[in-house]
Amino acid sequence: MSSVKLKKSADSFIKRKHPWIFSGAIEKVDGNPANGETVQIFTSNKTPIGFGSFSPSSQIRVRVWSFNPEEIIVDEFFRKKILLAHSLREKIIDTSKTNAYRIINAESDGLPGLVVDRYSNYLVCQFFTSGVEAYKEIIIEILNDIFKPTGIYERSDVEVRIKEDLQPNQGLLKGTIPGDLIEVRENGLKFLVDIKSGHKTGFYLDQRDNRELFSEFSKGKNVLNCFSYSGGFSIYALASGAHKVTQIDSSLSALELANRNIELNGLSISLAENINDDVFKVLRKFRDERKSFDLIVLDPPKFAESASQVENAAKGYKDINLLAIKLLNPGGTLFTFSCSGHISLELFQKIVAGAALDSGREVKIIKQLTQSSDHPVALNFPEGLYLKGLICSVN
Ligand code: SAH
Repeated sequence: MSSVKLKKSADSFIKRKHPWIFSGAIEKVDGNPANGETVQIFTSNKTPIGFGSFSPSSQIRVRVWSFNPEEIIVDEFFRKKILLAHSLREKIIDTSKTNAYRIINAESDGLPGLVVDRYSNYLVCQFFTSGVEAYKEIIIEILNDIFKPTGIYERSDVEVRIKEDLQPNQGLLKGTIPGDLIEVRENGLKFLVDIKSGHKTGFYLDQRDNRELFSEFSKGKNVLNCFSYSGGFSIYALASGAHKVTQIDSSLSALELANRNIELNGLSISLAENINDDVFKVLRKFRDERKSFDLIVLDPPKFAESASQVENAAKGYKDINLLAIKLLNPGGTLFTFSCSGHISLELFQKIVAGAALDSGREVKIIKQLTQSSDHPVALNFPEGLYLKGLICSVN
């Protein structure tokens, strides 16, 4: 078996059991491991510390499968990790109300590079790295055996695969999938999900817990849902008796799906106004028109894809937060999010604080938010925490 020997300077990192080994931490590679091949890992003084997958083209050269030098990476290893992940979801998800959730959250479930989401009787997988790609057949068989889904679909149509010398890929892996949309339940509400061409694996499962909180603030309120996608926050608000919801999204098909989701829940689309445009532009227009709202959610896409984009992203976040705060009636509430992994909660809070100051309004954080509990964060992998949010009260 091929192996890698780490530099002395990597010792402290090994103690922390971080699953990523960067190319700069490797002193020597023995053998000629192929892309995705499992290699044995040794410290600088030749102590074996475990096994990982080798990615010759990526800066993250090895992703650690296991820090147990005795643990061999065979079918049983994957079965054990998948069962562990499954038993956690059984504890935290009430499947009588919710049948769309994340079953495997990559590094945080001990399976670097693998995401598996459940949508009713279907599974949608993302294989981000050459390591999981190498074990794809085995992983699919185990998923099929444990979950017995009607179909397993792949949504590895992601650019990051290129860093791993893999082509973006999508298609049916097992069984059958419906030609059209899949109906799922989330906290008792119904949603249609497009697993083939929707964002991510089809739905923003990571916002489930926050959408539920949002509904508590919605009764009788005039709500603005910015970056509304298929209407997640809107449907919770309307189901809880919101007076009106205005949805803004640059994707017309997302807004059309939102309308279908509103109707699917027996709610009236006459209570929803859809604006198919750029949020930055519409918020300015609303400011000029002196419009106002009681409750606003800002859930933009990732503004910072890399560390170099943080400064520009911060300007974008400040801009929309400032505009939103000014549009709120006194006593209004803002739900504001950032899903950029490169922006910490501390920085995000500073950005919102800057917006609050410039607005001249009095703004208090009443709760800090994060991703839903089916997207756990392993403590040896802090990068797993990417979604940050604040509920702010604005006077
Ligand atoms: N809150 C949603 C998820 C939002 S995802 C939910 O709970 O499901 C981000 C959305 O922002 C996408 O639907 C995307 O089409 C939209 N979007 C991206 N940039 C935009 C922009 N500048 N203006 C309006 N919508 C935008």
